[in-house]
Amino acid sequence: MQLLNLIGGELVPPGAGCYLPVIEPATGQAFAQVPDSDAADVDAAVRAGEAALPAWRALPAEERGRLLVRLAELIERDLEALAQAESQDNGKPLRLARTLDIPRAASNFAFFGTLAQHFATEAHVQEGVALNYTVRHPLGVVACISPWNLPLYLLSWKIAPALAAGCCVVVKPSELTPCTAFLLSQLAIEAGLPPGVLNVVHGTGPRAGQALVEHPGIRAISFTGGTATGAHLARTAAPLFKKLSLELGGKNPNLVFADCDLTEAVRTSVRSSFANQGQICLCGSRIFIERPIYEQFKTEFLAQVAALRVGDPLDAATDQGALVSEAHLHKVLSYIELAYQEGGRLLAGGQREQLSGRCAGGYFVQPTVFEGLAPGCRVNQEEIFGPVVTLTPFDTEAEALAWANGTEYGLSATLWTRDLARAHRLAPQLHAGVVWVNTWLHRDLRTPFGGMKNSGVGREGGLEALRFFTEPQNVCVKF
Ligand code: NAD
Repeated sequence: MQLLNLIGGELVPPGAGCYLPVIEPATGQAFAQVPDSDAADVDAAVRAGEAALPAWRALPAEERGRLLVRLAELIERDLEALAQAESQDNGKPLRLARTLDIPRAASNFAFFGTLAQHFATEAHVQEGVALNYTVRHPLGVVACISPWNLPLYLLSWKIAPALAAGCCVVVKPSELTPCTAFLLSQLAIEAGLPPGVLNVVHGTGPRAGQALVEHPGIRAISFTGGTATGAHLARTAAPLFKKLSLELGGKNPNLVFADCDLTEAVRTSVRSSFANQGQICLCGSRIFIERPIYEQFKTEFLAQVAALRVGDPLDAATDQGALVSEAHLHKVLSYIELAYQEGGRLLAGGQREQLSGRCAGGYFVQPTVFEGLAPGCRVNQEEIFGPVVTLTPFDTEAEALAWANGTEYGLSATLWTRDLARAHRLAPQLHAGVVWVNTWLHRDLRTPFGGMKNSGVGREGGLEALRFFTEPQNVCVKF
């Protein structure tokens, strides 16, 4: 299968005819080719966006919204094909793609399709003196750059608000997982999005991505990916005065207090540790447990981890699929090695999982648990982004808080306690853009989403996203 770019409403090959192989992580075999687009392809896409912009921004919000809702319906119609493609591309269990990735991608389009109609002008009246009102203009042509872990879900989380706000978009999906973006390109045409409103340019970060970030026609960049890439993007975009939204890495803590609902805390912590093979930016990889329940938590946690089945992502019984790439597999294995060197005691997993048959060449790693590692060691400080977690007992609330906050990251945190006063006391003290209390990955699309410290700049979600993709202008009328 040869994927194509979407430029100006047409599915087109890259101008220079270059392609990269797309590898199925579960088998290690190439199954498709993705365009290795260059600056000329990016330029064609930006120009298509510029040509479409005047009509798109002039369209009433209801009309734009109707098209986005139509796209959501088409995603729901094609849920099975999209889920299959996501699983094959990424290595995630098909079951997860069916229940999380694709349904959430559809809800993103449906949500922003309707939200655009509730995005009202603010007015500030100075009694008897003047009226100020704020007009929010679409920024223009914007870039959306997304990672491989939740490919369609995160892409739609950016595209939908940008289009709803009246911007035209050039998307650069991850070169590791391009298939659902290609399928979305076809659906965008079927939904009747005017040509040039949504453009998809495939390729690598350093080539297509860099050309997009540098392009003078791009007014804003919404980026989700690694912290080092985010820093590089910021260095490139800042002198060009482009608006930036950066959703970056994390090293999220779970704080488990002795008064929690232990059954629920264990069950959800297993999920928050290993969902998508630990490759969700919101996964809790450092689990701090109050000492009186440490042994009980550990025993129950390990029993559930032992029951997780690593296997072919297409198998309905599989809980853990493959890691996204061979390079990522080796990165994760190197952190397991480092955990031993830093004095960790292995409690579960710790090895590459060798499957047979179709998946013999796949990139599988066992769900891995360590204890005995200092909160300041590299394994507890650096983002591994794989199925590796650490358990650490704590004695006081202050100690748990200091350890939770003691990294360069600040994306999310989860608190497990039945003491409401404690939950409200601790939540604002946590350096995390999202704090969950007695739950995890619970999402309300209206809420602000993003990270503190090195986990990002800016917020996505709800009206925050529409604000990002628009430029406010104040008009002051003297009475
Ligand atoms: P990455 O930074 O390697 O790549 C992300 C995207 O940026 C890809 O499309 C890539 O091609 C592109 N890119 C790379 N170099 C570029 C450049 N010079 N110019 C423009 N684009 C460039 O990240 P990844 O490995 O794909 O994703 C994993 C990372 O994403 C993890 O750190 C994870 O925590 C993070 N992430 C964060 C969130 C969040 O919401 N905060 C969500 C998911 C993933």
